[in-house]
This record gives sequence, C-alpha cells and structure tokens, in this order.
Amino acid sequence: MSHPEGRTPDLDARRVASSLRAIDVRPSKGRGQNFLTSQAVVDRIAALTGAGRNDTIVEIGPGLGALTGALTELAGQVTAIEIDERLAEHLMSADPPGNLSVVTGDALTLPEETFVPESGEYVVAANLPYSVGAAIVRRFLELAQPPRRMVVMLQREVAERMAAKPGDLSLLGVAVQLYAHPTLAFHVPPSAFKPRPKVESTVLVLEPHAHPLLEEAERAAFFEVLHAGFHQKRKQLANTLSSGLDLPKAATIVWLEENGIDPTRRAESLSVEEWLTLVRSRPGHG
Ligand code: SAM
Repeated sequence: MSHPEGRTPDLDARRVASSLRAIDVRPSKGRGQNFLTSQAVVDRIAALTGAGRNDTIVEIGPGLGALTGALTELAGQVTAIEIDERLAEHLMSADPPGNLSVVTGDALTLPEETFVPESGEYVVAANLPYSVGAAIVRRFLELAQPPRRMVVMLQREVAERMAAKPGDLSLLGVAVQLYAHPTLAFHVPPSAFKPRPKVESTVLVLEPHAHPLLEEAERAAFFEVLHAGFHQKRKQLANTLSSGLDLPKAATIVWLEENGIDPTRRAESLSVEEWLTLVRSRPGHG
C-alpha cells in the first residue's frame, strides 16, 4: 500500500529515539512502550479496521502516534486513550489533525462514556502494551457498548491463545470467544519496534457477536464453572468440576454425561457452546 507524499511521518528507529528524547521520555517496559517503526505494519492495521469517513475509531495507547496518523486519514473521528501524560500532551502539541481527540487515562478503568461515541458505533485499533493487552481486550469485549470490530496487536502467544480452537482452548480463549470471533491476521517481528521487544507480536481481528452468547445475569455462574474446569487443566473434567464446585463426583459424572460430554475429557477440549450448556444445566442451579 502506498501513501500520498508526506501523509504520515517517516517511521524509523532514529526518529522514534529523537522524539522520545525531545519530550524526555524513556520507554517504560511496565507500560509496554514498544513503538512501531514499520509503515507497512501501520498500513495493514489501518486497512484491517475497514473504517471510513463515517466511522469513529478508538485507539488504545497511541504513543508517539505511529498508527494514529493513518487512522485519522481513514476515519471521521479518532479518540485516542493514552495513560502516559507526556505522550498524550506530545500528540496534541504539534498541530494535531482536527478529527483527533486524546483522552488521558487508563484504558482498563476509564468510564465508558469518555470514549464511546454518542452513536455507540465504533471500531478499536491498537498496538497494545504486552502487560495488559489481554485485560484490555476482555474489558472492551465486555463493555455495555462494545466495539463493532477490534484490530489489536498483542504478544503472539496471547493472540494465539485467544484464537485457539477446542482441543487447545484456555480460559482466555473461552473468555474471548464468548464475545467475539477471532482471526489471526499477521505476525510482526521484534525488528518492527523501538525498543525491540523480546517476543513476537501478532495482529488479531475480533468481530464481536451480533447477539451475546451469554446473558449478563449468567456471567458470574459461567466464570465460576469455567474457573473450576481450568483450575487443574491437565485433570479430567469429572475431577476438576467436582472438586472446584464442591459437587459429589457421581453427580458431576451424570451432569457431564447428560450433556453428551465424556467425563474423562479435559477442560481445553470443550467448545464455548459445551461450556454454555454445562453452566445452564448445573445441578442445583436450575
Ligand atoms: N501505538 C504506538 C505505536 O504503535 O507505536 C504505541 C504502542 S505501545 C506498544 C503501547 C502504548 O500504550 C504506549 O504508548 C503506552 O504508554 C500506552 N499504554 C500502556 N498502558 C496503557 C493503559 N492501561 N491505557 C492506555 N494506554 C496505555
């Protein structure tokens, strides 16, 4: 994909370093401050949003604005949430595009009304900090007004766990797929960032389900069963569910068999739908 001349600033490691020096910021590992230096990666993430002039994009962690510039070119409005005040100020200091607004705060706790547009319709795009990437994805999927689509870069292993299939599912995979359909888009090597991380990254596209698979009122019960099942994930479900939920083993076996689930199976083998039927038929919770 090519850019009109001068549309986005050059991205390279030296430019990132000099911008950071100019605003006296040393990249923080705790805040996952690995800045993109690859225009090709920026272009691919922006294209995957599918956003146009009528859309609002919420960007999480704009940093020095590598992705932000491309997003403001595409969308009608971009709202960027940045936890680091110096980076947020920097973004708004140098003649920012008219369709960009920056909210300073923590994407894990900021009230929904500070970033969800009035229409309630928006797309999320982000190169997420490694340390809280999974928590941010889960929070956004569980919002009262979730995004229409999320295009997020995560540590490769985390993205792969979110997109895993039954047989390889983890608690994180189930928790994400309960709300959205995941697709792994492409992998990104450490050389695409400054400073270079130790791990590979992957861009993941999440399409939230049109109708939630889980009612809000069922959430606590669902996660209680899920946590019990995954508590000792190498063990058979009859054992983990019986001990985790304090149920007699014989009753647990009947419960599993009545749902067509072999009690010797392990948590990682169950599909999201199987977890849902189990939760909805839990003995003593009808
Ligand atoms: N988007 C930029 C890029 O691609 O070059 C920076 C991405 S960097 C991996 C992650 C960014 O998220 C940093 O700017 C960091 O300060 C910010 N950040 C970290 N934790 C955050 C949080 N909880 N809420 C909002 N922003 C956060």
